[in-house]
Amino acid sequence: MRKFLILIVLLGIGAGAAWFHAGGAEGPMLVLAGPETAIGQTGELDLAIETPRGKLASLEVALEQNGTRFPVFDLADDAAQLEQDGEHRLVLKRAIGKREFPELEAGAARIVVTASRPVLFGYREATATLEHDIEVRLRPPQIAVYSTHHYINHGGSEMVVYRVQPADAQSGVRVGDREYAGFPASGAGIENADPALRVAFFALLWNQDVNTPIEVFARDELGNEARTTFDYRVFPKSFRKSRIQVDDRFLAKVVPSILAQSTEFKVDDPSDLLASYLRINRDLRRQNDATIAALARETAPQILWQGPFKQLINTAVEAGFADQRTYVYKGEDIDHQTHLGFDLASTAAAPVLAANHGRVLFAGWLGIYGNCVILDHGMGLQSLYAHLSSISVAVGDSVAINQQLGRSGTTGLAVGDHLHFTILLGGNPVTPIDWWSPQWVQDRILRKLREAGAAG
Ligand SMILES: [Zn+2]
Repeated sequence: MRKFLILIVLLGIGAGAAWFHAGGAEGPMLVLAGPETAIGQTGELDLAIETPRGKLASLEVALEQNGTRFPVFDLADDAAQLEQDGEHRLVLKRAIGKREFPELEAGAARIVVTASRPVLFGYREATATLEHDIEVRLRPPQIAVYSTHHYINHGGSEMVVYRVQPADAQSGVRVGDREYAGFPASGAGIENADPALRVAFFALLWNQDVNTPIEVFARDELGNEARTTFDYRVFPKSFRKSRIQVDDRFLAKVVPSILAQSTEFKVDDPSDLLASYLRINRDLRRQNDATIAALARETAPQILWQGPFKQLINTAVEAGFADQRTYVYKGEDIDHQTHLGFDLASTAAAPVLAANHGRVLFAGWLGIYGNCVILDHGMGLQSLYAHLSSISVAVGDSVAINQQLGRSGTTGLAVGDHLHFTILLGGNPVTPIDWWSPQWVQDRILRKLREAGAAG
């Protein structure tokens, strides 16, 4: 009996010591990777919690400002949103901008994290807290448009010169749901340009409404956004309608060769030439256009071209930009597509020349475009040369205006020997008529750059 009592007392002392010891155990380790200094309309909490086997008893995160507490996270409610990142590590990511907490005001705020982990088989908890001061910044970037007289041909291009502050804000022109990036004006040949001065080329696409809203936008890294309109006029254009006769001879010429070279593109029955042709004209066309749009992002931040673009010499225009084409087979309408380029024909295997100075972005097989070259002219502007019989440049080459890129041909979706020529802006086809016109280039672009340079 006495021995038993001693055992009880000893166990009691041991438990007390363990209890006491557990009380001194360290809480989870809290590491706040973001936000570092500020949040705005947007902001992301990026919190790592290190605790043995990822076990937590509690975790609360809040934003505090002027005595108000905005709960951000509570383990009791949202346990599923904690990500396990290794055996002993948890990660919590949460949007914490003004969009999520509309009552936040500009000024100082604090992130407060309290976390505890179970110790002594869950009988006690070890707690840690973290406090981090941040600033809520809600002032949007400032935009001032400098250029004047913006005239946009429907399906065509334009350019705007503006100033944005802070200079590192992301900015450009938004046309409906399309965004065109602005670039530092120093890349447009304006000497000693203020770093805040920007140049943006933009387009009103052939398939956008003539009343599509056009504005300059700027947003900083905290999601604060500013937008401003500027004076512009849109000139409506009518696009031609044409009918293309598709016959068995044509199908036999184009379909097998396109399928043989576009190895990533599959049709159900390659021997069904008409069905394969329709898939090529719709789906392969869409894939190829996605490739072209992706290449747009590789544009140089400087203007590489000089003066008006050159239309290939001694060529007749066989098809124009945004011609609405109806494809007819044995008297029946089988398809509609828009022709987003110019078809220029001269003699067979005629030398195809660079329309302006640039750099080769693409040189090779591109589905319906056959053997194709795409040149980058900088600041989102590119030119495309399709259906070539041969290519004499390679990706990365710098080319000068009138330098030979290859020879014309009938590769891809082409009937007779011709050059299919397209100008692209931000990956979207625009009419080359603007860019071929010395007066347009002078008045729409060079004049504005001169005026911006003179204004300093
Ligand atoms: Zn064409």
